[in-house]
Amino acid sequence: MNAAQPPEHRQGSEPGRHNLDPHLDRYAARTAGMTASEIRALFAVASRPEVVSLAGGMPNLAALPLDSLSGQMAELIAEDGLVALQYGSAHGVPTLREQICDVMAMEGITGHPDDVVVTVGSQMGLDMVTRLFCDPGDVVIAEGPSYVGALGSFAAYQAKVVHVAMDDDGLVPETLRAALAHAKSQGKRVKFLYTIPNFHNPAGVTLAVERRAEILEICRENDVLVVEDNPYGLLGFDGQTYPALRSMDPDNVVYLGSFSKTFASGLRVGWVLAPHAVREKLVLAAESATLCPPTLNQLVVSRYLATHDWKGQVKTFRENYRERRDAMLSALEQHLPAGCTWTRPDGGFYVWVTVPEGVDTKAMLARAVTARVAYASGTGFYADGFGSRQMRLSYCYPTPERIREGVRRLAGVLESEMDL
Ligand code: PMP
Repeated sequence: MNAAQPPEHRQGSEPGRHNLDPHLDRYAARTAGMTASEIRALFAVASRPEVVSLAGGMPNLAALPLDSLSGQMAELIAEDGLVALQYGSAHGVPTLREQICDVMAMEGITGHPDDVVVTVGSQMGLDMVTRLFCDPGDVVIAEGPSYVGALGSFAAYQAKVVHVAMDDDGLVPETLRAALAHAKSQGKRVKFLYTIPNFHNPAGVTLAVERRAEILEICRENDVLVVEDNPYGLLGFDGQTYPALRSMDPDNVVYLGSFSKTFASGLRVGWVLAPHAVREKLVLAAESATLCPPTLNQLVVSRYLATHDWKGQVKTFRENYRERRDAMLSALEQHLPAGCTWTRPDGGFYVWVTVPEGVDTKAMLARAVTARVAYASGTGFYADGFGSRQMRLSYCYPTPERIREGVRRLAGVLESEMDL
């Protein structure tokens, strides 16, 4: 893929539309890495009610107390409207930054509110961090597979992603060591390790506690920063939490957090906890991107944390997701043809499935949608074209009945694919 290639010729664009964009020769070179996922292309069909979508990662918000939330929002405007509807600082609302420190303490992090920068979801944090650290051609190391939105940010800044392997215990330290040695031998600058230690998106695995110190040590030895992305950390199905990497090496870890999965994704409130010097640059980068995160939304989150039993609400979310995870795992066990394997998540939203050789999940997707089930095919979660025998199934949103039906339909499509 190079900059000269028009965006319409890239993977995921609509075919036959390449002459329609009069701006083709105006786009910046960095837009060459911006591609739509196959599921985006199929979105209109996949979101029809008769299709069971196991593709998206939308949190299930049905358990939120909407009545009391709407009362609180009205109160907020009545009591504090002139602040809530006004610009704020790029750093974020101070009270919320203090509350965020209490949230992070649940995973062993001692952070100072000054070192927290509130962002428009952790997606903005990813964008900011990449913007701060990556020049075109710099290497970012990420698990393979990795979060598609992070890969999008890395591509937007023309960073080169090198994937490292995971097993059931998460990132394999030896593969990190090897990737760093290889980059060094090639004279490449590795800017950071991007990792999702808990309830990985899309792999569904969690980094074993025994590996955490080792991974931090390897990064230290190689002078590589760690970017820890942890939106699912409080969604362990047994209520278990793991020590954040940030809690173990505060000076070398930039931590990304979010209220999207523990409260409401549509409010778009997340945060970055960064080492002090990095934080100052982050505030400047955030200011140039958005001036400030939405004051109203920050105050809504702040009130919610102060006045609701938010931990009880997270427990309810966890129980809902656990029920859905159970439905998916038992349906996979019951229906998927021999030769398929999958991960068994202890939290979060996703199961990662590997299908037998000869089946291409990307090519199969259109047939699956025709059979009224959608998933996210594996190649979108790699920067290097790998993943054609993998797919991500999300159990977060559909009801357990729909999940069972979706897996049954998927098994039928796989079986006919394997007969070919
Ligand atoms: N990181 C990971 C691993 C995610 O799964 C997501 C959302 N799916 C995000 C970051 C972005 O979350 P948000 O911007 O809603 O905070």
